[in-house]
Amino acid sequence: MRDLLRDAAERGIRYRESLDWRRAFPSAEAIVALDTLDVLLPEEPTEPDRVLALLDEVGSPATAAQSGGRYFGFVTGSSLPITLAANWLAGAWDQNAALVVMSPIAARLEVIAQRWLLDALGLPDGCGVGFVTGATMANFSALAAARHALLEQQGWDVEAQGLFGAPPITVIVGDEVHSSLIKALGLVGFGRQRVVTVPADGQGRMRANALPVISGPTIVCLQAGNVNTGSFDPFTEIIRKAHEAGAWVHVDGAFGLWAAVAPERAPLTAGVAEADSWATDAHKWLNAPYDSGLVFVRRPEALQGAMAQNAAYLLTGAGREPMYLTPEMSRRARGIEIWAALSTLGRSGLADMIERACQQANRFAEGLRDAGYAILNDVVLNQVLVSFGEAEATQRVMAALQADGTCFCGGTVWQGKTAMRISVSSYATTDEDVERSLAAMIRVAREVGA
Ligand SMILES: *Cc1c(COP(=O)(O)O)cnc(C)c1O
Repeated sequence: MRDLLRDAAERGIRYRESLDWRRAFPSAEAIVALDTLDVLLPEEPTEPDRVLALLDEVGSPATAAQSGGRYFGFVTGSSLPITLAANWLAGAWDQNAALVVMSPIAARLEVIAQRWLLDALGLPDGCGVGFVTGATMANFSALAAARHALLEQQGWDVEAQGLFGAPPITVIVGDEVHSSLIKALGLVGFGRQRVVTVPADGQGRMRANALPVISGPTIVCLQAGNVNTGSFDPFTEIIRKAHEAGAWVHVDGAFGLWAAVAPERAPLTAGVAEADSWATDAHKWLNAPYDSGLVFVRRPEALQGAMAQNAAYLLTGAGREPMYLTPEMSRRARGIEIWAALSTLGRSGLADMIERACQQANRFAEGLRDAGYAILNDVVLNQVLVSFGEAEATQRVMAALQADGTCFCGGTVWQGKTAMRISVSSYATTDEDVERSLAAMIRVAREVGA
């Protein structure tokens, strides 16, 4: 066992050290080579060291270098070295985080991480916090809590009776709502299309003056950090109106909620703490390993009401029981890496990490604008949308940039315009990475005639 685990650690370390020269996206040959893994189920055992060697030799070249400093696709953080180290140790522990009695250490670190997160993000002290897989499940969990609370007020026990025959709930979203929230609406039985959509402005912010008159049980879904532009909904005004009408306000802040920790960005989140529930990711901007998301609910009873589960063999105590705050029962102990990240960064390190990414996004926008290309969004956070001209030209640049391998960027269509997206979300991105990537973008754009 010792040799095998040492070998794995050595290979992992070599991989992380290779990121500086490694392509941001694998070569076509590396992807074709994955076919060598595609064999029939082995009839006989194989030595573990040979399995590990195969995984490294064929697998590592076919990775996207998401843990490196020049991966700007989607919204993809790396993993801070301490979070990877904690993940390795926690992997050795192999704790089931469902109940306190199953893992006292996992449960205690969740309690501590919960307190630190609420403090850092400026959310109410008493929130219930669930450590879920990502923002999709955090949105799902928050909507389940909202469903519980709103229908309880109507005298309807939704967990017992389901939604057939239940009093209807109106769901209000913005025109630029994230697709995962729409998916979550389908999962909780509200329907993906049964929504009232409020127009958004050119940055994707819900227009406060277009909010419809609210009556009856209602959930208003707002956004901290649009996935394309990084913009924030006007929380103060909308939440006030929604609360006056008795509505539940949920905020999808998968990455944007972290703006609250950086003094220069915090004004973007003004008023967000007045909401009733929030979703965020730890695997994006906190730079914790996959998979790691967080749901926060102002009134923990609402989340616990939705996630309750009982059986005689489930030995529970009087304190916080992790599985009463998440859809999952057995799961990995995600709080360990979050605790490790926050322990290592401290408040100032966290603020610096967030602020640095925002300034690097500004530098991308400035460099591309100086080279003559159009920036389509107000760069207020870590997201940049750039157009290289016609849709077809922008697509040519993206394809050529991905083939070049210096950095990785994806694309989008923003309010009818094709754009390349640059998302700066990794602790590992240095200013040198930004200059190297910027130079590659401009060089490639000129080579393909954009
Ligand atoms: C990434 C993202 C999500 C989904 O998060 P997952 O962790 O991928 O489930 C939801 N909302 C926004 C705004 C996002 O950026």
